[in-house]
Amino acid sequence: MKIICIGRNYVAHARELNNEIPVEPVFFMKPDSALLRNNDPFYIPDWTTEVHHEIELVIKINRVGKNIETKFAQRYFDEIGLGIDFTARDIQNKLKEKGLPWEKSKAFDQAAVIGGKFFPKTGFHDQGDINFKLDINRNPVQEGNSGLMIFGLEEIISHVSKYVTLKMGDLIYTGTPAGVGPVKIGDHLEGFLEDKKLLDFMIK
Ligand code: ZN
Repeated sequence: MKIICIGRNYVAHARELNNEIPVEPVFFMKPDSALLRNNDPFYIPDWTTEVHHEIELVIKINRVGKNIETKFAQRYFDEIGLGIDFTARDIQNKLKEKGLPWEKSKAFDQAAVIGGKFFPKTGFHDQGDINFKLDINRNPVQEGNSGLMIFGLEEIISHVSKYVTLKMGDLIYTGTPAGVGPVKIGDHLEGFLEDKKLLDFMIK
């Protein structure tokens, strides 16, 4: 399986990092070796001093698809979950300055946190109104709502599948709302999808 991440999909987040508002979805990928499951602790790598949390809604692809039209995109996922796109921001900024690819700052081991449970999309009253949140040490640091996405789930699936064949089990991280910031050793992270706590782990 592969992990596809959408960047700059919320206006307030693009602005907080001084990025332009994109006119089409920005995407990048992480390898399956980046997955961090089961609420295992996250270990800050020794080559970065600034790992940022990015809480994101995640959709799980349920069949093979290529060149998917927006109007058919709903057929390609049944479930919605929650994850964190950990980013070594210091490294990413250096790479961006030089115009180099972001992989080192995004694709490293443990950089794709995923909640243990996914929920049927039919259980959400409106895919354009899904709330999610990240708390650190019981303080809310990021609060998102899918209605604030620049590109919705169907547009994301359609756009990505123009370039990359989607396969069953692929995960798409759909972008982070504003409020990204560094994590430090000893932090306790808790992620919520609506009222359900799906992430609950420590930074070490
Ligand atoms: Zn992200």
